Amino acid sequence: MIPIAKPFLGAAEADAARAAVLSGWVSQGPQVAAFEAEFAALVGAPHACAVSNCTTALHLACQALGIGPGDEVITVSHSFIAGANAIRQTGGIPVFVDIERTGYNISVAAVEKAITGRTRAILCVHQIGMPCDLEALLALGRQYGLPVIEDAACAIGSEIRIDGRWEKIGKPHGDIACFSFHPRKVITTGEGGMLTTRHPDLDAKFRLWRQHGMSISDVQRHASSQIQFEDYPERGYNYRMTDIQAAIGREQLKRLDDIVQKRRAIATLYHRMMADIPGITLPVEPDWARSNWQSYCIGLDHAIDQRSLMQALLDRGVASRRGIMCMHLEGAQADVPLRHPLDRSVEARDHSILLPLFAQMTTDEVRRVVNTLRAEVLFLLLAPRPPADPPAAVAS
Ligand SMILES: *Cc1c(COP(=O)(O)O)cnc(C)c1O
Repeated sequence: MIPIAKPFLGAAEADAARAAVLSGWVSQGPQVAAFEAEFAALVGAPHACAVSNCTTALHLACQALGIGPGDEVITVSHSFIAGANAIRQTGGIPVFVDIERTGYNISVAAVEKAITGRTRAILCVHQIGMPCDLEALLALGRQYGLPVIEDAACAIGSEIRIDGRWEKIGKPHGDIACFSFHPRKVITTGEGGMLTTRHPDLDAKFRLWRQHGMSISDVQRHASSQIQFEDYPERGYNYRMTDIQAAIGREQLKRLDDIVQKRRAIATLYHRMMADIPGITLPVEPDWARSNWQSYCIGLDHAIDQRSLMQALLDRGVASRRGIMCMHLEGAQADVPLRHPLDRSVEARDHSILLPLFAQMTTDEVRRVVNTLRAEVLFLLLAPRPPADPPAAVAS
C-alpha cells in the first residue's frame, strides 16, 4: 500500500523529545523560544510565535487585527475548514470567493469584487504548498487599506519571487503568516503552529493571548531572583506549544531543505511521467512560485468519475484523496451568506484528486502510482462505469 503521506521523523526527533522530557521542563519554555528563533531566521521573519496548532494561530491572527462581530474577511471556500472557523470564532463573517481558472489558489480579481465597506481583512491561502499571487494581493491590500493574513499551513519551505527576489513564505510579506506542524504537512511536531509577523505589537499580542493573557511567563518567573506576581490584563487562551513538540520541531527544521528538495524531485518525476496520460490536468507552478509540493493535485476530465478512480487506485494499493474541500458545502458553514460565484471551487473539489507524495517515496513507488493511474484512467475513459455507491460516512 502506498500511503498519501508519511511524516519524515527519525532518531534525531526521538532523542530530542527524550532530552526535553528528561530536562524536567516540558511545557512552553526554552525549547519553544529556540524553535521560534530558528523558525524566524529560516523564513526571514523578525518575529515568530509558536502556538498549539495553525487553527489557533489563525484565530489569534484575526483577533490581533481587530476582527470582531459583523466584520467581513474575504477568503476562499476551497480550503481546509479551519480558516472559516477561525474567522467565525472572533464573530467575523467569512466572505467566500472563488479560485483562479488554473490551479487551486484564490482569485485576486474575485477578491477585489468582494471588497465592501465592512471588509476588514483578506485571508489568503497558499493552497497545498503552492504560493498564491501574494504580490497582487498585497497591492490590493495597500490600495484598500486592508491587512493580509496568509494561511501558510501547508507552505513551510515554499518560495515566492517578490520584487524580483526569491524569498520564503512567512518572511512575512503580508501582515501575519500562520503555519501548521500537523503530520499531514511537510514538517511536523505532532500538533503545532507558528505565527510570523513584522509588527512587534502583533507579536506581543500573540504572546499574551496564547498563555491566558498572563503578564509574565513561567520562564521569566522561574528565572527571577525576585518574587514576581503575574496579572491578567486581557482575556486570553491556552494556545501554548510544549517544549517536547518544540524540541522535535527544531530537528525537523534541520531536515526541511532536504525534505523540500526530495518532494520537488518527486513532483518533477510525476510531471514527466504523467505528461502522456489523457484526461488529466497536471498542476502548474507559476514562474514566480516554487511549491514545497505538500500535495500533488491532478484535475480529472468529467469523463473520469472521481470516486471510481479513487476506489480503483485503492484496490490496487495506491491511496489518494479527493480534491480540496469547499467549506461552503459543509453544514458547519451553511449559514454563511454566499454572495459570489464559487463554481471553480466546486469543480476543483469534485474533479480532482491528490496523489501520494512524501519525501521517503522511492522512484519505484512513483512509477507504481503513475502506472496504476495510467491504467485506471484509460480503463475509465474507455469503459465508463456508473459511480460506486457512496459509503455512509467518508473518512478523510
Ligand atoms: C492543515 C490546515 C489548517 C489547520 O492546521 P492545524 O495545525 O491542523 O490546525 C489550516 N489551513 C489549511 C489550509 C490547512 O491545510
